[in-house]
Formats: sequence, C-alpha cells, structure tokens
Amino acid sequence: MTEISAAIRTIPDFPKPGIHFKDITPLLGNGVLFKQTIDALAERHKDHSIDVVVGIEARGFIFSSALAYALGAGTCLVRKPGKLPHTVHRQAYELEYGTDSVEIHQDAFTSGQRILIIDDVLATGGTVAATAKLIQTHFDVEIVELNFLIELSFLNGKEKLGDLPAYSLVTY
Ligand code: AMP
Repeated sequence: MTEISAAIRTIPDFPKPGIHFKDITPLLGNGVLFKQTIDALAERHKDHSIDVVVGIEARGFIFSSALAYALGAGTCLVRKPGKLPHTVHRQAYELEYGTDSVEIHQDAFTSGQRILIIDDVLATGGTVAATAKLIQTHFDVEIVELNFLIELSFLNGKEKLGDLPAYSLVTY
C-alpha cells in the first residue's frame, strides 16, 4: 500500500480554498499500481459472491468497472441527477451549503443480490451514506461492504455509515 499511497498527490485549495484534493491521476496512470489496487480489492472479495459492484459518479466508476470485471460481477452506476436515461429512484443529502442528490435506475438489481459499493474517497460520508440509503430504501439486496481507495479519517465520514462495514486501502 505504500507505493499506492505514494502515487496519490494532494492539491491544496482545489477546487476551492480549504479543500486538500486527493488527486489519484498519477496512480491511475501507472499500470502496475492500478492493477495492484484492483487486485487487492478483488482478493478481498473473491469469496464474497458479489453480484453487482456499484460505482459512485464519477471516479467511483473507474474502480467499480475494473473490480466488477475482476470479480466476474455486474456493475451499476449511481449518478448525479438527470444523467440516467431510464426511470430512477432519488436520494437527497446535505452538503455544507445546500443539498445534492444521487440517482439509480429502478431496475438496477434483482431481489437477494449481493452488492458492493465503491468510491474513490470517503470524506464527510454524505455521498456514500445517501447511496446506501437509496439502495436500502428501494431494493431487497444485501450491501456486503463499502469500499474506498482513500479515507480522510479526520472528517469522521464513518460515523454517517451506521452499521455498514467500510474498508479503505489508504487512510489519511
Ligand atoms: P463526501 O460525501 O464528503 O464523503 O465526499 C465524497 C465524494 O467527494 C467522493 O465522490 C469524492 O470523489 C469527492 N471528494 C470529497 N473530498 C475529496 C478530496 N479531498 N479529494 C478528492 N475527492 C474528494
């Protein structure tokens, strides 16, 4: 994991003052490290009978699609409002200023499926908590785990996740 964390750089004050943005593009651009990242998650879940890996827009999609392929699972897109073409369920969540929402197709899962949710960064936890609530409210599926490449533990995002198990490859 040392090499993976060394390939993540921090950009101060992006996209606005006070945010220390975790830029994963050096990691994504390194074939050995990107493969190590996906392989580590695939190894973790190899016996978990995952049916669908859910990716959260937008950088979550990079990991959800590669991990789904490695596991032989399907993948599903959770997107910002207005991006999905078919009928959706929507879940709103609070931001520091205002609210945002996530959406999922109403036919995303079948009953009893085992789901993994992945995003690049766990910060305040609002986005992934809304995603989990969206899925738990509308579908009879099991969320096996929430996965992140990076957890910013000083923001206490895990507190928003209730009993849902969470795992991150790199913690700051
Ligand atoms: P949150 O809802 O606060 O946990 O924020 C998670 C979402 O915002 C993820 O989809 C991340 O891509 C993005 N995000 C939040 N904070 C950062 C950060 N410091 N660096 C990069 N992405 C971030």
